[in-house]
Amino acid sequence: MDSTAKSDAWRADRDHFLHPYTDFTTFQDSGSQVVSHGDAMYIVDEAGRSYLDGIAGLWCVNLGHGRSEIAQAMGDQAQQLGYFNTFGHSTNTPAALLARQLAERTPGDLNHVFFTTGGSTANDTAIRLAHYYFNRLGKPKKKKILARNGGYHGSTYFAAALTGIHGIHYGFDRIAEDIVHHLSAANCYRRPEGMDEAQFCDFLIDEARHRIEQLGADNIAAFIAEPVMGAGGVLVAPEGYHRRMAEVCQQNDILYIADEVVTGFGRLGHWFASEDRFGHVPDILITAKGLSSGYCPIGAAVFSERMYEVISKPQGPGGVLSHGFTYSGHPVSCAAALKSIELYEREDIFGKVRDTGPYLQQQLKRLSRHDVVGDIRGDHLMAGVELVSDRDAKRNFPPDLAAAEVVFGRARDYGVIVRPVGDTIILSPPLIISREQVDTLVDSLDQAIEDVSGQLM
Ligand code: PLP
Repeated sequence: MDSTAKSDAWRADRDHFLHPYTDFTTFQDSGSQVVSHGDAMYIVDEAGRSYLDGIAGLWCVNLGHGRSEIAQAMGDQAQQLGYFNTFGHSTNTPAALLARQLAERTPGDLNHVFFTTGGSTANDTAIRLAHYYFNRLGKPKKKKILARNGGYHGSTYFAAALTGIHGIHYGFDRIAEDIVHHLSAANCYRRPEGMDEAQFCDFLIDEARHRIEQLGADNIAAFIAEPVMGAGGVLVAPEGYHRRMAEVCQQNDILYIADEVVTGFGRLGHWFASEDRFGHVPDILITAKGLSSGYCPIGAAVFSERMYEVISKPQGPGGVLSHGFTYSGHPVSCAAALKSIELYEREDIFGKVRDTGPYLQQQLKRLSRHDVVGDIRGDHLMAGVELVSDRDAKRNFPPDLAAAEVVFGRARDYGVIVRPVGDTIILSPPLIISREQVDTLVDSLDQAIEDVSGQLM
């Protein structure tokens, strides 16, 4: 590709921006698609071409692009108070109000909000404070964390250690290998031969019980799980799994951390999925992304009353809870989140998701007409289409074929953005998507798969 024909931004990006999760062998030639603006369901690139955003930026722009009310709220707040720290006894109005709004919307007695800069730092916070909690209770041996294969929890050093997508770890060190233990993914598509879903659920619960026995409940602090696994391929656990895992945790004095970075703020049709979709109240709830509809970096770890009572007690005279980020409770991020919450409510966004979500899942079933489609799964506006070279054997394509990437490229030619992860194509559109736009998304994906099937097989 002739880079001289490209814009200054394109060249600056290729030469200096060390992108996250990028294949730099192809990047030097192809560079990036420079996205210049967005409007509702669409993004527009530098060349002026518009695309239906089938992934809400990265599971986050839930209210759609270019919402002037959010921009206005951020601008007003920046002018009034761009920043002041929240350490110690200092706060700002949007952070205080947002903490209360979150406490009112999270389930059960999850009433105490620790603000972070995103999902990874919220997960790190949860683990650090879970360890601190048990230290303060006189149970300092409770250090181990149960996570799951296929789980994604972020990219800070500890959040990466929690992450169970093994490809992500190639060539990297794994800290905390003796601390983090991964259980099986709740992957119904790839469950052991001959098991129905109910038996698979029993199998997963038994596995967790055995692992706890092996490691010793006295050594385990927490279990972390996404209500629906996202980056691991949109895996929906068997019926009853989360509730039963929560019971196992409770029986063993293990904290249940629900990582709702993707599932929170309406993607599954409710504020949060843990209670409303899956019938349990976690001890710590993690949120980010949809909290500000992606307009500003912000995350939060929300703690129960039981935990708050312990972690808020000073270790001694003048002792403080020694944890925090410069940008914990950043006023501009909090203003974006407060406005987002107002819009979610005023526009009944989650009610709409309860209509368009099942509609998307139903429309996607059409894709089963392609031999390369092995599984179609999801929940409301979170969907995965797994590609296989052999349907009966459920065999994926060789990695060098980059099958999902090929489909992604073809879908983009048709003006829709989907997300290839391994051999799965992920869809997570803004929650404002209409039924007509669902049709466009699925029709384009259908056509893209049709076009490339011959090349893949
Ligand atoms: N947890 C889950 C479930 C996620 O999907 C992500 C990011 O995609 C994270 C945590 C990490 O969030 P962040 O990238 O904001 O640090």
